[in-house]
Amino acid sequence: MTEPERHKYDVVVIGAGGAGLRAVIEARQKGYSVAVVCKSLFGKAHTVMAEGGCAASMGNANEKDNWQTHFQDTMRGGKFLNNWRMAELHAREAPDRVWELETYGALFDRTADGRIAQRNFGGHTYPRLAHVGDRTGLELIRTMQQKIVSLQQEDHAATGDYEARIKVFAECTITELLKDGDAISGAFGYWRESGRFVLFEAPAVVLATGGIGKSFKVTSNSWEYTGDGHALALRAGASLINMEFIQFHPTGMVWPPSVKGILVTEGVRGDGGVLKNTEGKRFMFDYIPPVFKGQYAESEDEADKWLVDNDSARRTPDLLPRDEVARAINEEVKAGRGTEHGGVYLDIASRMPADEIIRRLPSMHHQFKELADVDITAEPMEVGPTCHYVMGGIEVDPDTGASRVPGLFAAGECSGGMHGSNRLGGNSLSDLLVFGRRAGLGAAAYIESLRTSPRVAPADIDRAAAFALAPFDPATDGTPENPYTLHTDLQQFMNDLVGIIRKEAEVHEAISALDDMRSRIRNMTVEGHRQFNPGWHLAVDLRNMLLVCECVARAALMRTESRGGHTRDDFPTMDPAWRNTLLVCTTEAGDDSPVPEVAVVREEQIPMRPDLLELFDFDELEKYYTAAEIAGHPDAGG
Ligand code: FAD
Repeated sequence: MTEPERHKYDVVVIGAGGAGLRAVIEARQKGYSVAVVCKSLFGKAHTVMAEGGCAASMGNANEKDNWQTHFQDTMRGGKFLNNWRMAELHAREAPDRVWELETYGALFDRTADGRIAQRNFGGHTYPRLAHVGDRTGLELIRTMQQKIVSLQQEDHAATGDYEARIKVFAECTITELLKDGDAISGAFGYWRESGRFVLFEAPAVVLATGGIGKSFKVTSNSWEYTGDGHALALRAGASLINMEFIQFHPTGMVWPPSVKGILVTEGVRGDGGVLKNTEGKRFMFDYIPPVFKGQYAESEDEADKWLVDNDSARRTPDLLPRDEVARAINEEVKAGRGTEHGGVYLDIASRMPADEIIRRLPSMHHQFKELADVDITAEPMEVGPTCHYVMGGIEVDPDTGASRVPGLFAAGECSGGMHGSNRLGGNSLSDLLVFGRRAGLGAAAYIESLRTSPRVAPADIDRAAAFALAPFDPATDGTPENPYTLHTDLQQFMNDLVGIIRKEAEVHEAISALDDMRSRIRNMTVEGHRQFNPGWHLAVDLRNMLLVCECVARAALMRTESRGGHTRDDFPTMDPAWRNTLLVCTTEAGDDSPVPEVAVVREEQIPMRPDLLELFDFDELEKYYTAAEIAGHPDAGG
């Protein structure tokens, strides 16, 4: 029998990025004890890498902004596939969440009259991103950590123990969720340094593990993004939605190869940077899609005028939603107008004085100087699409973050629905704050409603331990496989076959490669011991990546249209018949294989509430909806 180190908490939050920390704060403020577990160092999460800002309609840069416009922009950006209730809550609550951060000590950049400054970003009608230069995520994490320390000080004053109600478990990977009957009873994992097992007994778990980008070869994401939360939820009986929608950010670095994929913030374009091909043409004017015709500037003069006064002109198409810009860059490169390294140019150097660039974009200046020996104040950057964000994730109740499994909640990038088929820049940081808080509240309300505490069965601990250790002792019936080789192969074929542009035959090819990998993974072997063993860590993560990739590929095959972060070469347009259809991924209960089989079924979304639908002009809705769906709109006519 396995005897792990044991801890008992009311709530276990898995993930210490923005969503996780905000959930911790809320659950603790409701009086519950909370463990926060992260596989990286505390403070190192994707949230800390966020650059451009946090979207909230505070109206500081343009007083016409309001939650309704933010809601409309978010729905348009997601091509109306978003869970409208999440988009509504997000737009309504984001300003309060940003102001609240100030009460925790956040120091945002200011307008001349002392209010929080807001910058332009793709798809947002008004300058809306509260920011701290191009290091906004760092400030978010810093202030939430500071808030947690202040809560720990209160706990110390009350109990003599700083960690009485919040304790951080860093460099600890969760490998399994445990259940008592249908309901969550805890989480099982291991310390990365010692390899020793650890068990958290808790009636409520909040998943806040972020995204899946490390399954793709070219990505802005770091090593932690292996889809762990997605896979843990699936294996525990929850469902994933929208997994076919992957955001390829248009501007990643393309050169030198060692830094390919590293993000170049959209803030560069928000602050006036423009995309050009090798002929020096600002090509985005040629790529305004029909659904956005009339909403974007049609000449360089108009686009430049908008940068100075966004009431007197239409916005620049350099700031179309990310899916549109990424596809446009792809087209330019394919047409032979790309750079020798397969990108296009992003020029800020000719647009403003050098000292202004350094003031506004210090990290970008530093990043290009250090990594590519390019001075962005004097020459253009070379950029191209990079896998950045997963719109798909754990299906949750919009108000509480509850998944299908009692006691299991999710928030942040690992949850699905909020962003529909494509996320607008800046809407993730606000999503983390709004729904991290709501998941904390949801977990607290769930615990209050419980009559008995769920228990962890010893057999489940043994099973979880055996599952974690399997790569040391595989049931080899063929050539032993190395996790690093498997990972490289997975990243390559996901990039090539289920990447930015997809075709039926190629997605089929990816599914057979995934099938093949299922057999190969049974022979995956790691050498050495459990003490800090990166090969073992990767082997554990790889099973999650494989499961999640299976969801991406199977859903991508089923959705026979192009929408947001899912482009099918063989079905190049958006199909209104697919607009309200979600593809829901589940695994068979009791399937204990390393990578369980995935089933994908269609589910219809709940129709949008009439008062929200009426915020849009009928003419615009007609571009997305079937006639029957919008027959009740006041302007529907006959
Ligand atoms: P994260 O912040 O990534 O946190 C995930 C946590 O889960 C980590 O602590 C990790 O260690 C932990 N974890 C994962 N698996 C396990 C496991 N098995 N066991 C234990 N712990 C685990 N969005 C914006 O809105 N504005 C921006 O300007 C912006 N810029 C970005 C720039 C870059 C370079 C990148 C990569 C993203 C950017 N984004 C931006 C997106 C945004 O940063 C992320 O979507 C967001 O931070 C995700 O937050 P999260 O709390 O969901 O996850």
